[in-house]
Amino acid sequence: MARPDPHSYADDGQPAVRRLDLRARVDFSAQVLHAQATLSFDPLSTSASLDLDTRDLAVEGVSLPDGTAVRYTVDRPEPILGARLRLELPAGAMAATIRYATSPTASALQWLAPAQTAGKRHPFLFSQCQAIHGRSVVPLQDTPRRRIRYRAEIDVPADLCAVMSAASMGRRDAGSGRAVFGFDMPQPIPPYLLALAVGDLESRELGPRSRVWAEPDVVERAAWEFASVDDMLRTAEGLFGPYEWDRFDILTMPPSFPYGGMENPRLAFLTPTLLAGDRSLVNVLAHELAHSWTGNLVTNADAEHFWLNEGMTVFAERRIQEALEGPDVTALHAAVGRRALDRAMARFADRPELTRLRTQLAGVDPDETFSEVPYEKGYLFLRALEEAAGRARFDIFLKKYIDTFRFGTITSEEFAAFTRRELSGAFEAVDGDAWLFAPGVPRGAPEPRAARLEALMALVPPASGEAPHLPSAGQGAAFSPTEWQVYLGNLPRPAGTDLCRALDDRFGLSALRNADVLASWLDVALTAGHDAAVAPAERLLAEVGRMKYLRPLYLALASRPETRARARALYDRCRDRYHPIARQVVEGVLRDQDA
Ligand SMILES: [Zn+2]
Repeated sequence: MARPDPHSYADDGQPAVRRLDLRARVDFSAQVLHAQATLSFDPLSTSASLDLDTRDLAVEGVSLPDGTAVRYTVDRPEPILGARLRLELPAGAMAATIRYATSPTASALQWLAPAQTAGKRHPFLFSQCQAIHGRSVVPLQDTPRRRIRYRAEIDVPADLCAVMSAASMGRRDAGSGRAVFGFDMPQPIPPYLLALAVGDLESRELGPRSRVWAEPDVVERAAWEFASVDDMLRTAEGLFGPYEWDRFDILTMPPSFPYGGMENPRLAFLTPTLLAGDRSLVNVLAHELAHSWTGNLVTNADAEHFWLNEGMTVFAERRIQEALEGPDVTALHAAVGRRALDRAMARFADRPELTRLRTQLAGVDPDETFSEVPYEKGYLFLRALEEAAGRARFDIFLKKYIDTFRFGTITSEEFAAFTRRELSGAFEAVDGDAWLFAPGVPRGAPEPRAARLEALMALVPPASGEAPHLPSAGQGAAFSPTEWQVYLGNLPRPAGTDLCRALDDRFGLSALRNADVLASWLDVALTAGHDAAVAPAERLLAEVGRMKYLRPLYLALASRPETRARARALYDRCRDRYHPIARQVVEGVLRDQDA
Protein backbone atom coordinates (compact mmCIF):
# COMPACT_ATOMS: atom_id res chain seq x y z
CA MET A 1 0.00 0.00 0.00
CA ALA A 2 1.49 3.30 -1.04
CA ARG A 3 0.46 6.78 -2.04
CA PRO A 4 2.73 7.54 -5.00
CA ASP A 5 1.33 11.03 -5.75
CA PRO A 6 2.18 13.59 -3.04
CA HIS A 7 -1.00 15.50 -3.97
CA SER A 8 -3.52 12.68 -3.74
CA TYR A 9 -4.91 10.24 -1.18
CA ALA A 10 -5.09 7.62 -3.95
CA ASP A 11 -3.49 4.41 -2.73
CA ASP A 12 -2.15 2.02 -5.35
CA GLY A 13 -2.96 -0.96 -3.12
CA GLN A 14 -6.66 -0.13 -3.51
CA PRO A 15 -9.07 -0.66 -6.44
CA ALA A 16 -8.53 1.67 -9.40
CA VAL A 17 -11.55 3.74 -10.43
CA ARG A 18 -11.89 3.30 -14.19
CA ARG A 19 -15.07 5.09 -14.99
CA LEU A 20 -17.21 7.99 -13.80
CA ASP A 21 -20.91 8.51 -14.45
CA LEU A 22 -21.77 12.01 -13.34
CA ARG A 23 -25.15 13.63 -12.98
CA ALA A 24 -25.16 17.25 -11.90
CA ARG A 25 -27.76 19.96 -11.53
CA VAL A 26 -26.25 23.41 -11.96
CA ASP A 27 -27.74 25.87 -9.45
CA PHE A 28 -26.65 29.39 -10.39
CA SER A 29 -28.49 31.09 -7.52
CA ALA A 30 -26.79 29.01 -4.79
CA GLN A 31 -23.60 28.59 -6.91
CA VAL A 32 -23.44 24.86 -6.29
CA LEU A 33 -23.69 21.61 -8.23
CA HIS A 34 -26.09 19.05 -6.76
CA ALA A 35 -24.53 15.87 -8.02
CA GLN A 36 -24.21 12.15 -7.92
CA ALA A 37 -21.08 10.41 -9.09
CA THR A 38 -21.02 6.69 -9.79
CA LEU A 39 -17.48 5.32 -9.74
CA SER A 40 -16.84 1.93 -11.35
CA PHE A 41 -13.91 -0.38 -10.74
CA ASP A 42 -13.01 -4.04 -11.33
CA PRO A 43 -15.18 -6.36 -9.15
CA LEU A 44 -13.65 -6.76 -5.67
CA SER A 45 -12.64 -10.26 -4.61
CA THR A 46 -12.54 -9.20 -0.94
CA SER A 47 -13.85 -6.22 0.98
CA ALA A 48 -11.68 -3.14 0.49
CA SER A 49 -11.25 0.48 1.44
CA LEU A 50 -11.28 3.06 -1.34
CA ASP A 51 -9.69 6.46 -0.58
CA LEU A 52 -10.90 9.39 -2.67
CA ASP A 53 -9.84 13.02 -2.87
CA THR A 54 -12.42 15.69 -2.05
CA ARG A 55 -12.31 19.39 -1.28
CA ASP A 56 -15.25 21.26 0.24
CA LEU A 57 -17.76 18.62 -0.90
CA ALA A 58 -20.86 18.05 1.24
CA VAL A 59 -21.28 14.26 1.03
CA GLU A 60 -24.91 13.25 1.55
CA GLY A 61 -24.67 9.48 1.17
CA VAL A 62 -22.94 6.57 -0.58
CA SER A 63 -24.62 3.44 -1.91
CA LEU A 64 -24.06 0.37 -4.07
CA PRO A 65 -25.99 0.03 -7.36
CA ASP A 66 -28.64 -2.12 -5.55
CA GLY A 67 -29.26 0.71 -3.07
CA THR A 68 -27.33 -0.82 -0.13
CA ALA A 69 -25.74 1.93 1.93
CA VAL A 70 -21.92 2.03 1.98
CA ARG A 71 -20.08 3.03 5.15
CA TYR A 72 -17.83 6.03 4.67
CA THR A 73 -15.80 8.59 6.58
CA VAL A 74 -14.76 12.10 5.60
CA ASP A 75 -11.53 13.11 7.32
CA ARG A 76 -10.64 16.56 8.54
CA PRO A 77 -9.46 18.58 5.54
CA GLU A 78 -5.74 19.09 5.03
CA PRO A 79 -4.89 22.57 3.60
CA ILE A 80 -3.35 21.46 0.28
CA LEU A 81 -4.87 18.03 -0.33
CA GLY A 82 -8.41 18.58 0.94
CA ALA A 83 -10.32 15.88 2.81
CA ARG A 84 -9.94 12.14 2.34
CA LEU A 85 -13.23 10.33 1.71
CA ARG A 86 -12.85 6.65 2.60
CA LEU A 87 -15.44 4.16 1.37
CA GLU A 88 -15.64 0.69 3.00
CA LEU A 89 -16.66 -1.56 0.11
CA PRO A 90 -17.90 -5.15 0.45
CA ALA A 91 -16.54 -8.08 -1.57
CA GLY A 92 -18.16 -8.27 -5.00
CA ALA A 93 -18.74 -4.52 -5.28
CA MET A 94 -17.97 -3.05 -8.70
CA ALA A 95 -19.44 0.45 -8.37
CA ALA A 96 -20.48 2.99 -5.75
CA THR A 97 -22.62 6.10 -6.04
CA ILE A 98 -21.79 9.20 -4.02
CA ARG A 99 -24.48 11.87 -3.59
CA TYR A 100 -23.05 15.28 -2.75
CA ALA A 101 -23.08 19.01 -3.34
CA THR A 102 -20.14 21.24 -4.24
CA SER A 103 -19.35 24.39 -2.26
CA PRO A 104 -19.91 27.94 -3.59
CA THR A 105 -16.17 28.37 -2.99
CA ALA A 106 -15.17 25.18 -4.89
CA SER A 107 -11.60 25.87 -6.01
CA ALA A 108 -12.19 24.50 -9.54
CA LEU A 109 -15.35 26.46 -10.28
CA GLN A 110 -15.84 30.09 -11.16
CA TRP A 111 -19.38 31.41 -11.15
CA LEU A 112 -19.71 34.63 -13.11
CA ALA A 113 -22.54 37.11 -12.75
CA PRO A 114 -24.05 38.37 -16.04
CA ALA A 115 -22.08 41.64 -15.68
CA GLN A 116 -18.81 39.64 -15.79
CA THR A 117 -19.55 38.12 -19.22
CA ALA A 118 -19.18 39.60 -22.69
CA GLY A 119 -22.94 39.63 -23.35
CA LYS A 120 -23.88 40.81 -19.83
CA ARG A 121 -27.25 39.02 -20.00
CA HIS A 122 -26.61 35.51 -18.62
CA PRO A 123 -24.46 33.97 -15.89
CA PHE A 124 -21.51 31.75 -16.76
CA LEU A 125 -19.85 28.81 -15.02
CA PHE A 126 -16.53 27.21 -15.85
CA SER A 127 -14.14 24.72 -14.30
CA GLN A 128 -10.35 24.65 -14.11
CA CYS A 129 -9.32 21.30 -12.60
CA GLN A 130 -5.55 21.41 -13.10
CA ALA A 131 -3.53 21.04 -10.97
CA ILE A 132 -5.49 19.45 -8.09
CA HIS A 133 -8.93 21.08 -8.19
CA GLY A 134 -10.97 18.29 -9.81
CA ARG A 135 -11.63 17.00 -6.28
CA SER A 136 -13.71 20.13 -5.53
CA VAL A 137 -16.13 19.05 -8.31
CA VAL A 138 -16.12 15.24 -8.14
CA PRO A 139 -14.86 12.81 -5.45
CA LEU A 140 -12.13 10.90 -7.33
CA GLN A 141 -8.67 9.42 -7.17
CA ASP A 142 -7.43 12.82 -8.30
CA THR A 143 -4.07 11.80 -9.68
CA PRO A 144 -2.96 11.44 -13.32
CA ARG A 145 -1.94 7.85 -12.47
CA ARG A 146 -5.65 6.92 -12.38
CA ARG A 147 -7.13 7.57 -15.82
CA ILE A 148 -10.91 7.46 -16.17
CA ARG A 149 -13.49 7.40 -18.91
CA TYR A 150 -16.63 9.39 -18.17
CA ARG A 151 -20.23 10.05 -19.05
CA ALA A 152 -22.16 13.02 -17.76
CA GLU A 153 -25.65 14.50 -17.72
CA ILE A 154 -25.64 18.18 -16.86
CA ASP A 155 -28.94 19.86 -15.95
CA VAL A 156 -28.91 23.61 -16.66
CA PRO A 157 -31.35 26.52 -17.19
CA ALA A 158 -32.97 25.93 -20.60
CA ASP A 159 -31.66 29.18 -22.11
CA LEU A 160 -28.03 28.16 -21.46
CA CYS A 161 -25.72 25.65 -23.10
CA ALA A 162 -23.40 23.17 -21.39
CA VAL A 163 -20.12 21.96 -22.95
CA MET A 164 -17.56 19.48 -21.63
CA SER A 165 -14.21 17.87 -22.51
CA ALA A 166 -16.18 15.03 -24.12
CA ALA A 167 -18.34 14.09 -27.11
CA SER A 168 -21.77 15.69 -27.09
CA MET A 169 -24.66 13.25 -26.71
CA GLY A 170 -27.29 15.90 -27.36
CA ARG A 171 -29.71 18.07 -25.42
CA ARG A 172 -33.15 17.23 -24.13
CA ASP A 173 -35.79 19.44 -22.60
CA ALA A 174 -36.32 18.60 -18.92
CA GLY A 175 -39.37 20.83 -18.31
CA SER A 176 -39.69 23.62 -15.72
CA GLY A 177 -37.30 25.80 -17.69
CA ARG A 178 -34.46 23.26 -17.55
CA ALA A 179 -32.50 21.27 -20.13
CA VAL A 180 -30.15 18.30 -19.82
CA PHE A 181 -26.96 17.98 -21.90
CA GLY A 182 -25.38 14.53 -22.30
CA PHE A 183 -21.66 13.79 -22.75
CA ASP A 184 -19.47 10.77 -23.32
CA MET A 185 -15.68 10.67 -23.04
CA PRO A 186 -14.60 7.32 -24.47
CA GLN A 187 -10.83 7.88 -24.13
CA PRO A 188 -9.34 7.53 -20.64
CA ILE A 189 -8.15 10.85 -19.20
CA PRO A 190 -6.31 11.99 -16.09
CA PRO A 191 -8.91 13.60 -13.78
CA TYR A 192 -7.45 17.09 -14.18
CA LEU A 193 -8.79 17.07 -17.77
CA LEU A 194 -12.40 16.85 -16.66
CA ALA A 195 -13.91 20.16 -17.79
CA LEU A 196 -17.30 21.86 -17.84
CA ALA A 197 -18.60 25.25 -18.93
CA VAL A 198 -22.16 26.56 -18.92
CA GLY A 199 -23.26 29.84 -20.46
CA ASP A 200 -24.87 31.65 -23.36
CA LEU A 201 -22.79 29.90 -26.03
CA GLU A 202 -22.86 29.67 -29.81
CA SER A 203 -20.54 27.83 -32.17
CA ARG A 204 -19.04 28.26 -35.65
CA GLU A 205 -17.56 25.47 -37.76
CA LEU A 206 -13.81 25.86 -38.44
CA GLY A 207 -13.07 22.58 -40.19
CA PRO A 208 -14.14 18.94 -40.43
CA ARG A 209 -12.92 18.22 -36.89
CA SER A 210 -13.17 21.64 -35.25
CA ARG A 211 -15.63 24.28 -34.17
CA VAL A 212 -15.26 27.27 -31.90
CA TRP A 213 -17.65 28.08 -29.06
CA ALA A 214 -18.03 31.53 -27.53
CA GLU A 215 -20.59 33.97 -26.29
CA PRO A 216 -22.66 35.30 -29.22
CA ASP A 217 -20.97 38.74 -29.13
CA VAL A 218 -17.53 37.17 -29.46
CA VAL A 219 -18.04 34.11 -31.66
CA GLU A 220 -17.39 35.77 -35.07
CA ARG A 221 -14.13 37.34 -33.91
CA ALA A 222 -13.06 34.01 -32.40
CA ALA A 223 -13.87 32.13 -35.62
CA TRP A 224 -11.72 34.59 -37.61
CA GLU A 225 -8.80 34.51 -35.15
CA PHE A 226 -8.67 30.70 -34.92
CA ALA A 227 -9.41 29.93 -38.58
CA SER A 228 -6.05 28.17 -39.02
CA VAL A 229 -6.87 25.35 -36.59
CA ASP A 230 -7.42 22.72 -39.28
CA ASP A 231 -4.01 23.46 -40.89
CA MET A 232 -2.44 23.18 -37.47
CA LEU A 233 -4.16 19.89 -36.77
CA ARG A 234 -2.92 18.32 -40.01
CA THR A 235 0.59 19.72 -39.51
CA ALA A 236 0.72 18.33 -35.96
CA GLU A 237 -0.40 14.89 -37.14
CA GLY A 238 2.46 14.91 -39.65
CA LEU A 239 4.91 15.58 -36.83
CA PHE A 240 3.58 13.51 -33.93
CA GLY A 241 1.29 10.82 -35.35
CA PRO A 242 -2.49 10.41 -35.54
CA TYR A 243 -4.80 12.67 -33.53
CA GLU A 244 -6.46 10.31 -31.03
CA TRP A 245 -9.31 12.46 -29.64
CA ASP A 246 -11.68 12.58 -32.67
CA ARG A 247 -12.46 16.30 -32.39
CA PHE A 248 -10.52 19.44 -31.48
CA ASP A 249 -13.08 22.09 -30.49
CA ILE A 250 -12.27 25.39 -28.85
CA LEU A 251 -14.09 27.34 -26.16
CA THR A 252 -13.33 31.06 -25.93
CA MET A 253 -13.52 31.85 -22.25
CA PRO A 254 -14.75 34.91 -20.36
CA PRO A 255 -12.00 37.49 -19.59
CA SER A 256 -11.45 36.24 -16.03
CA PHE A 257 -10.04 32.89 -17.25
CA PRO A 258 -6.71 32.71 -15.36
CA TYR A 259 -4.60 30.97 -18.03
CA GLY A 260 -3.74 31.49 -21.70
CA GLY A 261 -5.33 28.16 -22.41
CA MET A 262 -6.21 24.83 -20.88
CA GLU A 263 -5.80 21.71 -22.96
CA ASN A 264 -9.08 20.02 -22.03
CA PRO A 265 -9.36 17.22 -24.61
CA ARG A 266 -11.95 17.71 -27.38
CA LEU A 267 -12.55 21.22 -26.02
CA ALA A 268 -9.53 23.47 -25.47
CA PHE A 269 -10.28 26.48 -23.28
CA LEU A 270 -8.63 29.71 -24.55
CA THR A 271 -8.40 33.19 -23.05
CA PRO A 272 -10.18 35.94 -25.06
CA THR A 273 -6.96 37.99 -24.84
CA LEU A 274 -5.82 35.94 -27.86
CA LEU A 275 -8.41 37.76 -29.98
CA ALA A 276 -5.89 40.39 -31.06
CA GLY A 277 -7.51 40.90 -34.46
CA ASP A 278 -4.27 39.96 -36.25
CA ARG A 279 -3.92 36.19 -35.59
CA SER A 280 -0.57 36.96 -33.95
CA LEU A 281 -1.23 35.02 -30.72
CA VAL A 282 -2.31 31.70 -32.21
CA ASN A 283 0.85 30.07 -30.87
CA VAL A 284 -1.25 29.49 -27.74
CA LEU A 285 -3.73 27.58 -29.92
CA ALA A 286 -0.81 25.51 -31.28
CA HIS A 287 0.28 24.91 -27.69
CA GLU A 288 -3.11 23.59 -26.55
CA LEU A 289 -3.35 21.44 -29.68
CA ALA A 290 0.14 20.02 -29.08
CA HIS A 291 -1.00 18.90 -25.63
CA SER A 292 -3.21 16.36 -27.43
CA TRP A 293 0.00 14.32 -27.72
CA THR A 294 2.22 15.63 -24.94
CA GLY A 295 0.21 15.90 -21.71
CA ASN A 296 -3.15 14.45 -22.63
CA LEU A 297 -1.90 11.27 -24.34
CA VAL A 298 1.44 10.98 -22.50
CA THR A 299 0.83 12.47 -19.07
CA ASN A 300 3.10 13.57 -16.22
CA ALA A 301 2.71 11.10 -13.35
CA ASP A 302 2.14 13.98 -10.93
CA ALA A 303 2.95 17.66 -10.43
CA GLU A 304 6.61 16.88 -9.62
CA HIS A 305 7.07 15.95 -13.29
CA PHE A 306 5.05 18.83 -14.75
CA TRP A 307 7.87 19.67 -17.17
CA LEU A 308 7.05 16.48 -19.08
CA ASN A 309 3.66 18.02 -19.89
CA GLU A 310 4.77 21.58 -20.48
CA GLY A 311 8.37 21.46 -21.72
CA MET A 312 7.40 18.76 -24.22
CA THR A 313 4.42 20.84 -25.31
CA VAL A 314 6.38 24.06 -25.80
CA PHE A 315 8.79 22.03 -27.93
CA ALA A 316 5.89 20.53 -29.92
CA GLU A 317 4.16 23.93 -30.22
CA ARG A 318 7.31 25.48 -31.73
CA ARG A 319 7.71 22.59 -34.15
CA ILE A 320 4.15 23.18 -35.40
CA GLN A 321 4.90 26.88 -35.63
CA GLU A 322 8.15 26.29 -37.48
CA ALA A 323 6.35 24.11 -40.04
CA LEU A 324 3.66 26.77 -40.60
CA GLU A 325 5.56 30.06 -40.24
CA GLY A 326 9.25 29.23 -40.61
CA PRO A 327 12.25 29.01 -38.30
CA ASP A 328 12.74 32.81 -37.96
CA VAL A 329 9.34 33.31 -36.33
CA THR A 330 9.99 30.37 -34.03
CA ALA A 331 13.36 31.82 -33.01
CA LEU A 332 11.62 35.06 -31.99
CA HIS A 333 9.16 33.14 -29.81
CA ALA A 334 12.02 31.15 -28.29
CA ALA A 335 13.79 34.42 -27.50
CA VAL A 336 10.67 35.75 -25.72
CA GLY A 337 10.50 32.47 -23.82
CA ARG A 338 14.15 32.70 -22.81
CA ARG A 339 13.64 36.15 -21.28
CA ALA A 340 10.60 34.85 -19.37
CA LEU A 341 12.71 31.94 -18.10
CA ASP A 342 15.47 34.29 -16.92
CA ARG A 343 12.88 36.31 -14.99
CA ALA A 344 11.48 33.15 -13.38
CA MET A 345 15.01 32.09 -12.38
CA ALA A 346 15.47 35.50 -10.73
CA ARG A 347 12.12 35.18 -8.94
CA PHE A 348 13.20 31.85 -7.43
CA ALA A 349 16.71 33.04 -6.51
CA ASP A 350 16.09 32.11 -2.87
CA ARG A 351 14.22 28.88 -3.69
CA PRO A 352 16.56 27.32 -6.28
CA GLU A 353 15.01 23.88 -5.75
CA LEU A 354 11.99 25.16 -7.74
CA THR A 355 14.21 25.73 -10.78
CA ARG A 356 14.86 22.00 -11.17
CA LEU A 357 12.85 20.24 -13.85
CA ARG A 358 12.15 17.33 -11.52
CA THR A 359 10.76 18.95 -8.37
CA GLN A 360 9.94 17.67 -4.87
CA LEU A 361 6.52 18.99 -3.91
CA ALA A 362 5.36 17.03 -0.86
CA GLY A 363 3.71 19.64 1.35
CA VAL A 364 3.85 22.25 -1.43
CA ASP A 365 0.81 23.59 -3.30
CA PRO A 366 1.52 23.07 -7.04
CA ASP A 367 -0.29 26.33 -7.93
CA GLU A 368 2.11 28.22 -5.72
CA THR A 369 5.14 26.99 -7.67
CA PHE A 370 3.66 27.63 -11.13
CA SER A 371 6.24 29.37 -13.32
CA GLU A 372 7.90 29.40 -16.74
CA VAL A 373 10.59 26.96 -15.56
CA PRO A 374 8.93 23.67 -16.58
CA TYR A 375 7.89 25.28 -19.89
CA GLU A 376 11.01 27.04 -21.09
CA LYS A 377 13.76 25.10 -19.29
CA GLY A 378 12.02 21.90 -20.41
CA TYR A 379 11.97 23.24 -23.97
CA LEU A 380 15.69 24.07 -23.85
CA PHE A 381 16.53 20.58 -22.57
CA LEU A 382 14.66 18.98 -25.47
CA ARG A 383 16.30 21.39 -27.95
CA ALA A 384 19.70 20.43 -26.51
CA LEU A 385 18.86 16.73 -27.00
CA GLU A 386 17.63 17.46 -30.53
CA GLU A 387 20.85 19.29 -31.41
CA ALA A 388 23.00 16.51 -29.97
CA ALA A 389 21.10 13.71 -31.70
CA GLY A 390 20.28 15.50 -34.96
CA ARG A 391 16.72 16.25 -36.02
CA ALA A 392 16.06 13.06 -37.98
CA ARG A 393 17.05 10.84 -35.08
CA PHE A 394 15.24 13.02 -32.56
CA ASP A 395 12.00 12.90 -34.58
CA ILE A 396 12.07 9.09 -34.51
CA PHE A 397 12.69 9.25 -30.76
CA LEU A 398 9.74 11.63 -30.26
CA LYS A 399 7.30 9.41 -32.15
CA LYS A 400 8.51 6.35 -30.25
CA TYR A 401 8.13 8.23 -26.95
CA ILE A 402 4.51 9.08 -27.75
CA ASP A 403 3.78 5.57 -28.94
CA THR A 404 5.40 3.89 -25.92
CA PHE A 405 3.64 5.95 -23.23
CA ARG A 406 0.32 6.77 -24.93
CA PHE A 407 -2.68 6.79 -22.54
CA GLY A 408 -0.21 6.35 -19.69
CA THR A 409 1.90 8.42 -17.33
CA ILE A 410 5.61 9.00 -17.02
CA THR A 411 8.07 10.29 -14.39
CA SER A 412 11.32 12.18 -15.00
CA GLU A 413 13.28 9.09 -13.95
CA GLU A 414 11.42 6.97 -16.52
CA PHE A 415 12.08 9.65 -19.12
CA ALA A 416 15.80 9.56 -18.30
CA ALA A 417 15.92 5.76 -18.61
CA PHE A 418 13.96 5.80 -21.89
CA THR A 419 16.17 8.55 -23.34
CA ARG A 420 19.42 6.87 -22.32
CA ARG A 421 18.20 3.78 -24.16
CA GLU A 422 16.66 5.34 -27.24
CA LEU A 423 18.93 8.35 -27.66
CA SER A 424 22.15 6.92 -26.30
CA GLY A 425 25.06 9.31 -26.56
CA ALA A 426 22.83 12.39 -26.74
CA PHE A 427 21.58 12.18 -23.14
CA GLU A 428 25.15 11.90 -21.85
CA ALA A 429 26.49 14.54 -24.26
CA VAL A 430 24.14 17.22 -22.91
CA ASP A 431 24.44 15.96 -19.29
CA GLY A 432 20.77 15.06 -19.06
CA ASP A 433 21.01 14.45 -15.32
CA ALA A 434 22.10 18.05 -14.74
CA TRP A 435 19.18 19.32 -16.83
CA LEU A 436 16.70 17.18 -14.88
CA PHE A 437 17.94 17.25 -11.33
CA ALA A 438 20.10 20.39 -10.84
CA PRO A 439 18.79 23.95 -10.38
CA GLY A 440 19.32 26.78 -12.90
CA VAL A 441 19.95 26.66 -16.64
CA PRO A 442 22.99 24.57 -17.64
CA ARG A 443 25.81 26.35 -19.42
CA GLY A 444 25.69 25.89 -23.18
CA ALA A 445 21.88 25.86 -23.38
CA PRO A 446 20.74 26.30 -27.00
CA GLU A 447 20.36 29.92 -28.12
CA PRO A 448 17.71 30.93 -30.66
CA ARG A 449 19.26 32.21 -33.89
CA ALA A 450 17.70 34.21 -36.72
CA ALA A 451 18.62 37.27 -38.77
CA ARG A 452 15.51 39.11 -37.58
CA LEU A 453 16.45 38.38 -33.99
CA GLU A 454 19.98 39.74 -34.49
CA ALA A 455 18.64 42.96 -36.00
CA LEU A 456 16.40 43.42 -32.97
CA MET A 457 19.10 42.62 -30.45
CA ALA A 458 21.29 45.32 -32.02
CA LEU A 459 18.75 47.82 -30.62
CA VAL A 460 19.06 46.42 -27.11
CA PRO A 461 22.71 45.43 -26.64
CA PRO A 462 22.74 42.91 -23.80
CA ALA A 463 25.01 43.65 -20.86
CA SER A 464 27.33 45.87 -22.88
CA GLY A 465 26.52 48.97 -20.88
CA GLU A 466 25.46 50.67 -24.11
CA ALA A 467 22.10 52.46 -23.84
CA PRO A 468 19.19 50.87 -25.71
CA HIS A 469 18.18 52.47 -29.01
CA LEU A 470 14.77 53.83 -29.87
CA PRO A 471 13.51 52.08 -33.03
CA SER A 472 13.03 54.47 -35.95
CA ALA A 473 9.38 55.17 -36.86
CA GLY A 474 9.73 52.88 -39.90
CA GLN A 475 11.44 50.11 -37.95
CA GLY A 476 8.84 50.10 -35.17
CA ALA A 477 5.93 50.25 -37.60
CA ALA A 478 7.27 47.11 -39.30
CA PHE A 479 7.71 45.16 -36.04
CA SER A 480 5.49 42.13 -35.62
CA PRO A 481 3.85 41.76 -32.19
CA THR A 482 6.47 39.12 -31.34
CA GLU A 483 9.31 41.45 -32.35
CA TRP A 484 7.87 44.10 -30.03
CA GLN A 485 7.92 41.54 -27.24
CA VAL A 486 11.56 40.66 -27.91
CA TYR A 487 12.50 44.36 -27.94
CA LEU A 488 10.53 45.25 -24.80
CA GLY A 489 11.56 42.09 -22.96
CA ASN A 490 15.24 42.87 -23.50
CA LEU A 491 15.18 46.51 -22.38
CA PRO A 492 17.15 47.06 -19.17
CA ARG A 493 15.10 47.39 -15.95
CA PRO A 494 14.33 50.10 -15.09
CA ALA A 495 14.38 51.37 -18.67
CA GLY A 496 14.38 55.12 -17.90
CA THR A 497 11.43 57.47 -18.17
CA ASP A 498 12.87 59.36 -21.17
CA LEU A 499 13.03 56.23 -23.28
CA CYS A 500 9.53 55.22 -22.17
CA ARG A 501 8.08 58.62 -23.01
CA ALA A 502 9.76 58.56 -26.43
CA LEU A 503 8.47 55.03 -27.14
CA ASP A 504 4.95 55.90 -26.08
CA ASP A 505 4.93 59.16 -28.09
CA ARG A 506 6.29 57.54 -31.24
CA PHE A 507 4.36 54.23 -31.21
CA GLY A 508 1.33 54.79 -28.94
CA LEU A 509 2.18 51.65 -26.99
CA SER A 510 -0.18 52.40 -24.09
CA ALA A 511 -3.11 52.20 -26.52
CA LEU A 512 -2.19 48.83 -28.11
CA ARG A 513 -4.91 46.25 -28.71
CA ASN A 514 -2.65 43.19 -28.62
CA ALA A 515 -2.85 42.28 -24.92
CA ASP A 516 0.46 40.37 -24.83
CA VAL A 517 2.45 43.29 -26.25
CA LEU A 518 0.47 45.79 -24.17
CA ALA A 519 1.25 43.85 -20.99
CA SER A 520 4.98 43.62 -21.88
CA TRP A 521 5.03 47.36 -22.50
CA LEU A 522 3.14 48.24 -19.32
CA ASP A 523 5.54 46.09 -17.29
CA VAL A 524 8.51 48.04 -18.71
CA ALA A 525 6.79 51.42 -18.34
CA LEU A 526 5.47 50.92 -14.79
CA THR A 527 8.83 49.62 -13.57
CA ALA A 528 10.45 52.74 -15.04
CA GLY A 529 7.95 55.05 -13.33
CA HIS A 530 6.32 56.22 -16.59
CA ASP A 531 3.14 57.64 -15.04
CA ALA A 532 1.12 57.62 -18.26
CA ALA A 533 1.13 53.81 -18.08
CA VAL A 534 -0.71 53.60 -14.75
CA ALA A 535 -4.22 54.25 -16.08
CA PRO A 536 -3.95 51.79 -19.03
CA ALA A 537 -2.54 49.16 -16.64
CA GLU A 538 -5.48 49.66 -14.29
CA ARG A 539 -7.85 49.31 -17.26
CA LEU A 540 -6.23 46.05 -18.42
CA LEU A 541 -6.19 44.57 -14.91
CA ALA A 542 -9.83 45.50 -14.36
CA GLU A 543 -10.78 43.77 -17.60
CA VAL A 544 -8.83 40.49 -17.71
CA GLY A 545 -7.84 37.91 -15.11
CA ARG A 546 -5.03 36.17 -16.99
CA MET A 547 -2.23 35.45 -14.51
CA LYS A 548 0.43 36.08 -17.15
CA TYR A 549 -0.51 39.79 -16.91
CA LEU A 550 -1.65 39.96 -13.29
CA ARG A 551 1.58 38.82 -11.69
CA PRO A 552 4.05 41.20 -13.39
CA LEU A 553 1.73 44.22 -13.52
CA TYR A 554 0.61 44.01 -9.89
CA LEU A 555 4.25 43.47 -8.96
CA ALA A 556 5.33 46.52 -10.98
CA LEU A 557 2.61 48.67 -9.37
CA ALA A 558 3.16 47.38 -5.85
CA SER A 559 6.96 47.52 -5.90
CA ARG A 560 7.02 51.33 -6.35
CA PRO A 561 6.00 53.31 -3.26
CA GLU A 562 4.24 55.85 -5.54
CA THR A 563 1.75 53.29 -6.88
CA ARG A 564 1.60 50.71 -4.06
CA ALA A 565 -1.65 52.02 -2.58
CA ARG A 566 -3.24 52.08 -6.05
CA ALA A 567 -2.31 48.43 -6.56
CA ARG A 568 -4.03 47.49 -3.31
CA ALA A 569 -7.14 49.62 -4.13
CA LEU A 570 -7.32 48.18 -7.65
CA TYR A 571 -7.18 44.63 -6.30
CA ASP A 572 -9.92 45.34 -3.76
CA ARG A 573 -12.06 46.62 -6.63
CA CYS A 574 -11.31 43.72 -9.01
CA ARG A 575 -10.98 40.81 -6.59
CA ASP A 576 -14.43 39.39 -7.26
CA ARG A 577 -13.75 39.33 -11.01
CA TYR A 578 -10.63 37.18 -10.63
CA HIS A 579 -10.51 33.40 -10.51
CA PRO A 580 -9.66 31.91 -7.07
CA ILE A 581 -6.28 30.68 -8.43
CA ALA A 582 -5.47 34.19 -9.71
CA ARG A 583 -6.52 35.80 -6.40
CA GLN A 584 -4.01 33.60 -4.62
CA VAL A 585 -1.25 34.83 -6.96
CA VAL A 586 -2.06 38.55 -6.62
CA GLU A 587 -2.46 38.30 -2.85
CA GLY A 588 0.98 36.66 -2.69
CA VAL A 589 2.51 39.52 -4.74
CA LEU A 590 0.87 42.22 -2.58
CA ARG A 591 1.87 40.45 0.64
CA ASP A 592 5.51 40.17 -0.44
CA GLN A 593 5.64 43.88 -1.28
CA ASP A 594 4.04 44.86 2.05
CA ALA A 595 6.60 42.83 3.97
ZN1 LIG B 1 0.54 23.83 -21.53
